[in-house]
Amino acid sequence: KHRVLSGMQPSADSLHLGNYLGALVNWVRMQDEYDAVFFIPDLHAITVPQDPAELARRTRVTAAQYIAGGVDVDKCTLFVQSQVPEHAQLAWVLNCITGMGEAARMTQFKDKAQKQGSDHASVGLFTYPILQAADILLYQPHGVPVGEDQRQHVELSRDLANRFNSRFGETFQVPEAFIQKESAKIYDLQNPTAKMSKSAESPAGLINLLDDPKTVAKRIKSAVTDTETEIRYDRENKPGVSNLLTIYSAISGTPVEKIVSDYEGKMYGHLKVDLAELVSGHLAPIRERANELLSDPAELDRLLAHGAHKAREIASATLADVYSKVGFLPYR
Ligand code: ATP
Ligand code: MG
Repeated sequence: KHRVLSGMQPSADSLHLGNYLGALVNWVRMQDEYDAVFFIPDLHAITVPQDPAELARRTRVTAAQYIAGGVDVDKCTLFVQSQVPEHAQLAWVLNCITGMGEAARMTQFKDKAQKQGSDHASVGLFTYPILQAADILLYQPHGVPVGEDQRQHVELSRDLANRFNSRFGETFQVPEAFIQKESAKIYDLQNPTAKMSKSAESPAGLINLLDDPKTVAKRIKSAVTDTETEIRYDRENKPGVSNLLTIYSAISGTPVEKIVSDYEGKMYGHLKVDLAELVSGHLAPIRERANELLSDPAELDRLLAHGAHKAREIASATLADVYSKVGFLPYR
């Protein structure tokens, strides 16, 4: 089996419907076909200021949502990044073969640093893509399923893998970016030209995986549409309605054209009521399972520790090879 690796930051109280339909659903599909490694990048989370108690809580909440959403810890490897020290260790070595100019070209840093106010951005935020390269290269994956926004970072991982291999000898598998083109992209319900995002300024346009049916209904009912009445898919002129159709289709598995013909002559309100019911019904068992997992944090921590142990078996072998190749003395 080819290996794949992916992760989502514990940077909010909950994953949202975009994370779920755009990423998690694909992960769940992949765990049968691939040797899948999923992790929670808490080392990455602290590149911007975090409240310690919140970070710990959010890490567990994210783990619970991965599992409740269908990640099966018996089929894949699921772990928390900080529990596998090899990530930070390999990142240091990779830092030392990355050029300043090369790191400075990463566009995500520019965006995120601007949000922080450039003088306040941390060095960690600057080296974020290099830690991400370490995350990937440690596991020798064949592919990294990511959104278009991560293409540049996977490209850097490939460059660093090739550079290390040619300087020190064949060590790393050079990973492919599996850009998930066919996967659903979900937009903000209040601002349907912007993607649904954990870092959105207001939660009004988000549906979170742990939202109760009342909240889901409220968010969908107040979703921004347009002044026409016709239900059809047109991203350009009708981004709001199109987004509702995308969500409907992704959850029900019904093609958009079929939904459009089913709702011919009906009003936006009908679509919204039905969609709210569909989404709530779909999220109910996920919310229930996540809450169940969160009610026993000791058991959840045990599952994660087991995952970290499995991950270290792979990661420590790669790191040992790297350390020896760069000339570090063996530690026994
Ligand atoms: P942030 O605002 O902190 O960047 P985010 O909501 O963009 O958070 P990420 O942690 O950056 O979430 O992304 C996790 C995964 O979810 C990635 O694979 C990303 O492509 C996917 N994803 C994020 N937002 C959406 C969306 N609106 N629609 C579909 N997929 C999404
Ligand atoms: Mg993002």
